[in-house]
Amino acid sequence: MSTPVRVRIAPSPTGTLHLGTARTALYNYLFARRHKGAFVLRLEDTDEVRSKEEHTEDIIAGLKWLGIDWDEGPDIGGPFPPYRQTQKIDHYENIANSLIAKGLAYLAYETPEELEALRENQKNSNQAHRYDNSGRHLTDADAKRYEEEGRVPMIRFKVEEPRVVSWHDAIKGEISVDTADLGGDMVIVKSNGVAIYNFAVVVDDIDMKMTHVIRGEDHIHNTAKQILLYEALGHEHPVFGHAALIQDTEHRKLSKRLHGESVHIDNYRLLGYMPEAMVNYLAQMSWTPQIENGEAKEIFTLVEASELFDLERVSKSAAVFDIQRLNWFNGHYIRSLPLNVVTARALPFLQKEFNTNEYSLDELEKMVDSVRSGLSLLNEVTEAARFYFGDVCAIPEELKKEHLCTDGAKKILSKSLADLKEMPWGDGPACKKFVDKVGKELSIKGKDLYWPLRVALSGSTHGPDMGAMIAILGEKRVKARLESALNLCSQV
Ligand code: GLU
Repeated sequence: MSTPVRVRIAPSPTGTLHLGTARTALYNYLFARRHKGAFVLRLEDTDEVRSKEEHTEDIIAGLKWLGIDWDEGPDIGGPFPPYRQTQKIDHYENIANSLIAKGLAYLAYETPEELEALRENQKNSNQAHRYDNSGRHLTDADAKRYEEEGRVPMIRFKVEEPRVVSWHDAIKGEISVDTADLGGDMVIVKSNGVAIYNFAVVVDDIDMKMTHVIRGEDHIHNTAKQILLYEALGHEHPVFGHAALIQDTEHRKLSKRLHGESVHIDNYRLLGYMPEAMVNYLAQMSWTPQIENGEAKEIFTLVEASELFDLERVSKSAAVFDIQRLNWFNGHYIRSLPLNVVTARALPFLQKEFNTNEYSLDELEKMVDSVRSGLSLLNEVTEAARFYFGDVCAIPEELKKEHLCTDGAKKILSKSLADLKEMPWGDGPACKKFVDKVGKELSIKGKDLYWPLRVALSGSTHGPDMGAMIAILGEKRVKARLESALNLCSQV
């Protein structure tokens, strides 16, 4: 029997949940589900200055919003290994000391000022920045002197040079990195005793028996360093898969610095994006599930993707984040998810603007249903449904002259008002027939018939189906609006 798949997402809570991290989490999640394995959330919180509890909360909330759940990690009880690196500080140091004992790592005593001076020198002589490995040659006497001076050492791992580290990447194929490009012997434990990412991640991935590490290609050099550490610790490394980074439509890397809040997952929730759309969009961004009738399947749920995901079909080239395309997916889900789900999500937007308590849930659902085909973002529901709320609606001046107060329009409004008792309230298609009958009797049709009524009832020439709109507005409001429109025209 093959080893059960174990994968993880290991965000650092030094910032909010980034689109790229969400996509990486999604790919790991889908991979775990596809192989009936485990998906773990681990917080890499060793950066004690920049790690913030509020970021941890944001990351957890963002993953949950997307529907990505984990089998081990925060707020799920059980006998799981620690999931926060800060809980394992001593453990990392012990392992680092075992590397020193094997001659594979050493104590290094440089001060930040000395390292800065080295960096400056290299810069001035146009050399690439790297540690000069001078700590390797320290004598016991040197070490003793530094200790007496009060210097606190860090632990550096010996990076073997010359050497090429190669691996078969599950997404990118063969990858080779020359160790000369890794910056010299690497710090694995800082002088304050805290392990550095590249070391802690290897210890954790070993402890947590990770079989695959799927992450962004910005980690390729880290992977080379980590492979050296796996060797030193006497462990086989997991299968690595590096996904190409996400770029904007101008091919710049998507970053907080350049793109601000638009890289933050929660921003999309606040704007009224559907998590189903976000998941679908992020998943298909660099993964093509399958070809059906010659076309790539692009609409799928998290569950469907969980059955199909494979790393071979993840693209090697950069993904492009195109908000228009995301909006297209979002519009699709606003139109196609069950009405009660869409209404429940639209409600907070409506509540902010209107007194929704005056309307039954059934009425609110019908309002949302009548406008949802025109929405790309859920927050647009406020403008689209605004005219439903209140007895009368605002009518823009230019529409008044052009569509409301013409002779033909006045006839339509008066006749509709006069015949209103015949209106089959509550039945949208029948209400539409009522309008057509009014038109027939006046020999007016098409937009000459509909637009005056639309403007009188909703303040716009566009909007939901005429019959649905009348049925939702109901007798009291339709009557009030027809009367108000005629009244307006009598003043012109
Ligand atoms: N904390 C790292 C990051 O957020 C984790 C990378 C990894 O998956 O090893 O980029």
